[in-house]
Parts: sequence; C-alpha cells; structure tokens
Amino acid sequence: MTVTLLGAAEIRALAADLDVTPTKKLGQNFVVDANTVRKIVHVARVTDADRVVEIGPGLGSLTLAILETGAPVTAVEIDHRLAERLPATAGAHGVPAGALTVVDADALRVTALPGDPNVLVANLPYNVSVPVLLHFLETFPGLQRGVVMVQAEVGERLAAAPGSKIYGAPSVKAAWYGPWRLAGTVSRQVFWPVPNVDSVLVGFERDETPRGTDAERRRVFSIVDAAFGQRRKMLRQSLAGAVAESAAAASEVLTAAGVDPTARAEQLTVDDFVRIAAQVPVAP
Ligand code: SAM
Repeated sequence: MTVTLLGAAEIRALAADLDVTPTKKLGQNFVVDANTVRKIVHVARVTDADRVVEIGPGLGSLTLAILETGAPVTAVEIDHRLAERLPATAGAHGVPAGALTVVDADALRVTALPGDPNVLVANLPYNVSVPVLLHFLETFPGLQRGVVMVQAEVGERLAAAPGSKIYGAPSVKAAWYGPWRLAGTVSRQVFWPVPNVDSVLVGFERDETPRGTDAERRRVFSIVDAAFGQRRKMLRQSLAGAVAESAAAASEVLTAAGVDPTARAEQLTVDDFVRIAAQVPVAP
C-alpha cells in the first residue's frame, strides 16, 4: 500500500471536524504544502533504515511524508485532539499498522520514547523550539542527527559561529552536541495560518564522541549562562562569581584555560567553555 500525503483542503477539513482553531500558544501553524514536507524529509536524508521521532505532528502532514519513506515514526503531540486523531489519519492514508506510534504528551516532559529513534524531524512549535531541542538532545543520546523547521532568527542563532551578534548561549549549547547548519528557507505561504515570521530548516549531526559527561555538560552550561548573562562585560567580570570569587581570581582561571580574560562571551567556542569548566574545582 502506498502512503498518500495530506492536501491543503483536507487539512482544513480535518481541523474543522476536530473543532480545532490553530492557537498561537501551541505554535500551531500547519504546513499545507506537500512539496515542503517532502523537502524537509529529503534534507533529513530519511530512509527506511531510520527510526524517526517527530515533535508536534499536528494534523499529520509532515508525519505522512516521513512515513512515505518506510521509516517508522514516534510522534509526540501535546494537543490531545490531534494526538487522538493521528492514527486514523495515518491509516486512511495507507500507513501500515505499527509504523506510527503516537505519544500524547508535552515534549518538554518526555523522558522515554518508544521505537529507539535515531533521527529527529520536526516543524517545531516556535515558542518552545530551543528548550525542546536541547531537552531531546540531552535526554535521547541515540538521536544521531536531525532536521527541524524553526523561526529564521532561531535557526540562525543555532547555527551561528563565534563573533557574530546573533551568537548566544543557545549557539554554544547546541554546539556542545555537534555541528549545526542552515539547510534552507521556507516561505510563510506554505503554512496555515500564515505566520508573521520567516522560517528556516536547520540540521545537526551529533558528534560520535561526546564532549563530556552529563555533569560536565551541566557545569559548562552554567558557565555559558553566566557569561552570556552579562555578554557586554569582559569574561573576567562576567565570570567572577561563576568560576571564582573575584575578577582577579577569574582572570587566573581563564588564563590557565588558555582564554583571554578581557575577551567577551560571544568570542568563545564551546571548546573554550569546556576548557574553562575544566579549571574550576568541583564541589565535593
Ligand atoms: N507538524 C505539523 C505540521 O508541520 O503541519 C504541525 C507543526 S506546528 C508548527 C507545531 C505542533 O506542535 C502543533 O501540532 C502543536 O500542537 C504541537 N506542540 C506545541 N507544543 C508542544 C509540546 N510542548 N509538546 C509536543 N507538541 C507540541
């Protein structure tokens, strides 16, 4: 049986049948263009050898495009009405039984996933896109790569290199897991309702060797937060308190880590932050 995709009229009819009016609170902008969902799946290089997790499947347009490849999908949806309807939509579009597992839950709170997914593909709800991405990368080490659609500014920030204005704490935290790349722009006209922001695709590959343990990651991220919390200040000032008791002591820590104490947070790579954290004694 061949999987068929949802058309724009069918998506609206499904929403009407469920009495769903898309809400901003849940970032409900549904993709109503088959070419766009196929493009996302193509950029993510999904094959039938993969196991995909999708965050926020909504009415199922991207879900069906992923299932069209033959890869099984675990889909996490917070809106009960959408989560409940998705299996029937999939069945009516030629998806074989067992290929789709729906988890009716808040993706930010999910700590276990059926299906052992290795790829993340999602059109993320805008208001929680960065926290949900970082939560999934942290919680599911089996996720080797992914492609997500996010607000343009967020995608640019995730893929930003040190030295740019847009480079911030999310850029460093994302880089902890591996490299990120911008992978295309998406017209606002492919959404219903049409959002008032532009969207981009952004892809990541997880490094084969992790940069550190969970405890090391937490230490690095707290230093990153302190540094970017006062991003205009020199590191010896912004990190006094976080890595040492005074600006003078912070200077010593930074110098020992091979980092210029007069530099600012936006100039540092994730590996610079890792070296700084390694100089800070761990509380017993
Ligand atoms: N994938 C669908 C598409 O492309 O048409 C819908 C994408 S829409 C931008 C985001 C979806 O995420 C909505 O279905 C919304 O209900 C869901 N959502 C919002 N917050 C969520 C959360 N915390 N956990 C899981 N799903 C969430």
